[in-house]
Amino acid sequence: MNSNLALQIKDLDVRYPGTNLSAVQDISFELAQGEIACLLGPSGCGKTTLLRAIAGFLSPHLGEICLKGTTASTPGRVLSPEKRNVGVVFQDYALFPHLTVQKNIEFGLHKQSPLQRHSRSTELLKLIGLSELAGRYPHELSGGQQQRVALARALAPKPTLILLDEPFSNLDVELKERLTFEVREILKAENMSAILVTHDQYEAFSMADRIGVMDKGRLQQWGSPYSLYHEPNSRMVADFIGQGVFLPGIKTQTGIHFELGDVSVPDRESPSLSEFDLLVRPDDIIHDDASELQAKVVRKSFRGADFLYTLELESGSRIMALVPSHHNHAIGEPIGIKLELDHVITFDRSGAGS
Ligand code: ATP
Repeated sequence: MNSNLALQIKDLDVRYPGTNLSAVQDISFELAQGEIACLLGPSGCGKTTLLRAIAGFLSPHLGEICLKGTTASTPGRVLSPEKRNVGVVFQDYALFPHLTVQKNIEFGLHKQSPLQRHSRSTELLKLIGLSELAGRYPHELSGGQQQRVALARALAPKPTLILLDEPFSNLDVELKERLTFEVREILKAENMSAILVTHDQYEAFSMADRIGVMDKGRLQQWGSPYSLYHEPNSRMVADFIGQGVFLPGIKTQTGIHFELGDVSVPDRESPSLSEFDLLVRPDDIIHDDASELQAKVVRKSFRGADFLYTLELESGSRIMALVPSHHNHAIGEPIGIKLELDHVITFDRSGAGS
């Protein structure tokens, strides 16, 4: 056990009472002090179950959860939620309607003197940018302001870890984007470790130092947003994170060959299979009017700075390309493309990784 880590999970398996099916299984990962992680995955994959087990609301069938180097959950012994020093921010914020903003923030500080409580809540009001609204009641705040108060209330007792369960799901897209950055900054300013559950990979990308992708109760991959996008370890992760397509390829003496050409690959990165599916992301394809390699625009989606084009190759296979939006091509038009494949990621054609 390592006390420099905010959280350590080892071989965790959680079953709901009355069932002998594991809602999550074989889960192991670590979170350093001050790190922010996001759990991502399709509905029903076990994100909330994992969060509830970390908070102490569910006990493990197998495995162990350690907080700051101390065992918090094992099959025989579960420290109660209020004794674990873990703050939880729920989807609906759950602020106390009869308490002012400042009193809401002070709620978890009952063991401290009134002076200490006031000083900590004043410090947090400043951090969340709501000092002016200290005397208001929750119903007098916007959704984004309520969210920040809920976060400040969870931060007030300086917990070991904060758990956020889809904290932005009730907010509109613009506010969600802004708050994602704000919440990250607030957590970083407090050197707080946090785990956030979300459905939204873009939220995870802008918020997290680490992302855990879950599927069918298992943690498929745990890594930085960059490594998950560029080095997915399974077809499921490659599919779930970002956009892209799989094109059939074969191994050659110097690298690989597929419909868009030959790519030389250093020996150590050479695929282990002779035939495989190659992951091609939109950023692997560069638009180049001068290129002889052509593909036909079959769909386009305007994103402000760029277009996401869906392009059809000669074989009928489709790829995607991100192209600066001043290159505005019509549907049906052939455009020149070039391949700029940084990472050669291949998967078994049957579905498993190579
Ligand atoms: P979502 O994204 O839809 O919120 P999730 O990834 O959070 O889903 P969980 O809620 O953790 O998924 O559910 C994981 C599994 O546990 C599912 O198969 C679900 O049906 C099951 N489950 C959840 N709550 C209970 C419960 N109280 N009793 C029995 N099974 C449950």
